[in-house]
Amino acid sequence: MTMEDVRKRYDELEKKIKETNPTANIERIRSAFELALSAHGDQKRKDGSPYITHPLAAAEIIVEMGLDEDSIIAALLHDCIEDTEVTHEDVARLFGNKIAEIVEGVTKLDLVVNATQEEAQMENLRKMLLAMAKDIRVIMIKMADRLHNMRTMTYQSEAKRRTKALETMQIYAPIAHRLGMQRIKWELEDLSLLYLDPVGYKEIEDGLKKKQEESQKFVDTIQENITKRLNEVGIKSTVYGRVKHIYSIYRKMYTQNKLLDEIMDLFAFRVIVDDIAECYNVLGYIHEMYKPIPGHFKDYIGTPKPNMYQSLHTTVIGSEGIPFEVQIRTWEMHHTAEYGIAAHWKYKAGIQGKTDDEEKFAWIRRLLESQQDSDAQDFFRTLKMDMFADEVFVFTPNADVRSLPAGATPIDFAYSIHSEIGNKMTGAKVNGRIVPFNHVLQNGDIVEIITSNASKGPSRDWLNIVVSSEARNKIRQWFKKERKEENIAHGKLSFDSELKRSGLTLADISKDEFMQPLLKRMNYQTIDDLYAAIGYGGMSAHKVVTRFKEELRQYAKAAQKENAKLNPQVGFVSKTKASKPIHGIVVEGVDNCLVKFAKCCTPVPGDDIAGFITRGYGVSIHRKSCKNYNKTRDENNESVRWINVSWGDTNGELYPTSLEIMCRDRDGLVMDIATVINGLKIKLDAISTRSTNEGRISVYITIQVHSLEELNSAINKIMSVRGVSEIKRNEG
Ligand code: MN
Repeated sequence: MTMEDVRKRYDELEKKIKETNPTANIERIRSAFELALSAHGDQKRKDGSPYITHPLAAAEIIVEMGLDEDSIIAALLHDCIEDTEVTHEDVARLFGNKIAEIVEGVTKLDLVVNATQEEAQMENLRKMLLAMAKDIRVIMIKMADRLHNMRTMTYQSEAKRRTKALETMQIYAPIAHRLGMQRIKWELEDLSLLYLDPVGYKEIEDGLKKKQEESQKFVDTIQENITKRLNEVGIKSTVYGRVKHIYSIYRKMYTQNKLLDEIMDLFAFRVIVDDIAECYNVLGYIHEMYKPIPGHFKDYIGTPKPNMYQSLHTTVIGSEGIPFEVQIRTWEMHHTAEYGIAAHWKYKAGIQGKTDDEEKFAWIRRLLESQQDSDAQDFFRTLKMDMFADEVFVFTPNADVRSLPAGATPIDFAYSIHSEIGNKMTGAKVNGRIVPFNHVLQNGDIVEIITSNASKGPSRDWLNIVVSSEARNKIRQWFKKERKEENIAHGKLSFDSELKRSGLTLADISKDEFMQPLLKRMNYQTIDDLYAAIGYGGMSAHKVVTRFKEELRQYAKAAQKENAKLNPQVGFVSKTKASKPIHGIVVEGVDNCLVKFAKCCTPVPGDDIAGFITRGYGVSIHRKSCKNYNKTRDENNESVRWINVSWGDTNGELYPTSLEIMCRDRDGLVMDIATVINGLKIKLDAISTRSTNEGRISVYITIQVHSLEELNSAINKIMSVRGVSEIKRNEG
């Protein structure tokens, strides 16, 4: 191909753009072509043709897809940054940042794909490709690029052909399918098959050739018959038939273990009409003309496929006894079927009908729905691949894909490979550059971990940096095992400071007769074991100190109880019967003590409660949601007075509790509330009201209940009184 031919070919392209995209800025497109032309200069493709024919062909495919001016320009320039002197900045300066970004994106995808991928990694890789393309046009151009490369593979080496074909079959064709780019998908599959199984491909190709005359006759007849019939009834339509694509026949032969001659439905016909109503009309006529095979009718108009594909499908049998499929669709559906989401560039009116199934591509639909009124270009610009927002995909230096939680760092990456890699890690490189440990990984990053046998192991700070639980657990494991000494020291440090915070001293707790039995109860041999546990993070210092505090209080109380016998006024009643709860309350470590219920929060059995050792009046029981409890629980001088209590056998006792009922005021309201309570056979101790603002009123009641359950059911009943909007329990 001479330069003259190249220019001629470009002029053709320009002509086509003017027809299909009259508002496109031809000047701009032409200067992109000129730039690509001069940048690629004398570069040649493997077949000897000027390199420029490749970007030109990619642009042709993009134009055929109906994409916009920017996409055409980016397609023309798509190999410039990677393969020529032209830089990102050059492109940005001449054509704007957006174009430069798209071109850069296409280049990056190239680097990402590596044919040595394991099958198991393919799905990750496909996801990553989609996730990486911030602008969907990057994927479209990549598809055009790949399609042209596959079409012109003849001059590549055998090995390269296989590699590229495998990549195409495993990565690009599935992506085309997902995006609904049917036509490109088929062509990619057939071209891949040609290189992956040339014999199988040829067998089908030859077989079809042998039947060609017969097939053509069949296709022509059916096509003619349908067209004729639809004309008669006044339906304007375009009908065409074809033999199905080779890869789909190939798959059928293999999965059903059949010979080509045994595969009946080799043919597919399309009827394209103007609107949806006519689709169903046509279906009626087809079924009148040919016998439908039961169970083969599919209504993808009513229920579009997740990739937005819409059509009516039916399989029928003609007079010759040969089954064939008929697909009936509108022109708009046809474009969507051929070019997938690219079609929506032009047909931004969106898809008709709704689908609820298969959430996978719901995001595209959502975007389509929400963006219908906005400019089509805007739509594509904002169509971010956000479906994998919580995952990030990165590479090992061997090009294995790793999926990590979003926000992951090189440390997470290292531990995802192996604990030893994490433990010996001394540094990390991302895309060849040294990065700090807390560097946040991005999709497509190539991550390399630098390790050293001299490494002192992970740092405790890492626990605050990592985001994956895998890394966190492995780091803890390491501290547990490897660094006992350090753990002890570290654990003692946090224990001491926690102890100080709680107002205790080491002298308070280190009496042997107190400490030894306690450690044993907590399953530690020595205090060092406990420190070590705190040190590696298996136990929180706060929890341990809280436990110590409680145990100490009980220990002290046991001593105090001896005094109480002599002097009951200090707050504890004398021991009558062991372990008998007073008013249904069991005070931990104390058999009998004075118990009263706090007025501020009026607990009932079933509430989460805590006890407060009052000065001289025994233990006062509060709900844990009580403001008084929450206020003083962490105060230095008060916190020690809070103790664990629980509900024991309440022996059918009644507990008074107070409620505030917020209402819209009306005549007879208080009466109605009282009636409901009475109806529940609940004792009402007190009732009072206070009007708040305009027409609102609070009714305060005190009732006696046996349990939280009873209280809750009373609350539900009172809620149903007309005018009642909210019921709150007293919480101090
Ligand atoms: Mn290319």
